[in-house]
Amino acid sequence: MPTSPLADLAQQTADLLSTISALSTLDALRDAEASLTGKRSILASLQKSLGTLDPEARKAAGAQLQEARRVVEAALEERRALLRRDARQLSLEADRLDLGDVIASDVRWPLAVGHPGLIALTQRELEDVFIGMGFTVADGPEVESDWYNFEALNIPPAHPARGLWDTFYVDLGEPETVVLRTHTSPTQIHLMERAVATDSLPIHSVMPGRCFRRDTPDASHLYSFHQIEGLVVDRGISFGDLAGVIETFTRAYFGPDISSRLRPGYFPFTEPSAEFEVTCTICRGAGCRTCSSSGWLELGGCGMLDPAVLEAVGIDGDQWSGFAFGFGIDRCAQMRHEVSDMRALIENDVRFLGQFS
Ligand SMILES: [Zn+2]
Repeated sequence: MPTSPLADLAQQTADLLSTISALSTLDALRDAEASLTGKRSILASLQKSLGTLDPEARKAAGAQLQEARRVVEAALEERRALLRRDARQLSLEADRLDLGDVIASDVRWPLAVGHPGLIALTQRELEDVFIGMGFTVADGPEVESDWYNFEALNIPPAHPARGLWDTFYVDLGEPETVVLRTHTSPTQIHLMERAVATDSLPIHSVMPGRCFRRDTPDASHLYSFHQIEGLVVDRGISFGDLAGVIETFTRAYFGPDISSRLRPGYFPFTEPSAEFEVTCTICRGAGCRTCSSSGWLELGGCGMLDPAVLEAVGIDGDQWSGFAFGFGIDRCAQMRHEVSDMRALIENDVRFLGQFS
């Protein structure tokens, strides 16, 4: 009886498995693959030799060989997966950056350390001044309904005063008109509503924030700018209190030789209203080109709360009165640091920003 071509299959399979387990890289595995399971492999030549067997024996030997091939191929795939995992691990190790090591190694390269921009710095300084005067700081949304931005502030639809604000409208597909707030004044309405709902009057708050108007940016206008708004609602508040707050703030922020003055003005939500000016920070009141030789620079607007505004939020105007004021944070930064072009405030030029680190 002739020897079966598969007499050594167990040993041959074991040899293949030990060759596979000795493969140490994915490249080596790819190179060895053809000789392990391909057309020139021992498995392929054993397959050919089965042709000499009679059908019965060929069937049994075929099944035996198929099982050996399954075992070898499975070992090969398992090895491939393992080597892939190792390769990935190695690559992660190579890319690993331990910041602890960096610090411990005392490396000194020119690190660029960031810092708040001029607008953020100015906002913080202004908040500090008002906190020192007993105000709290409040925040409000930048996207507002028409009611908060206009109507509750005594500016009904079609009121000519709407022309004072070139408004960005937001289309949310809702019946309600939604705008990017054109001023920080809507936050006053939120504050007063909250105070009424929680029975927590009086209010002494400032509200800094970003506002938007359809302006073409130039040296003195931006489409997005920052305002700080002040609101006081208390018993027995008079116009003298308002003037006192403006003057105290002016000296605290700009310095003791800068003072303020009020001129009659118009705002729909205050009555009476005033525009306030401060001593020109360039010429200190002597008169120069910036202040058109007047010695004064306009900073913001203010006034006593219109009874219609108090009524809109449900505050009893017989018991409570108050005032509001608002001015540009960007304008303060510009005046204090003599920034000639407002666009520098939003352009993120490190040569400009670096001056305020
Ligand atoms: Zn001047």
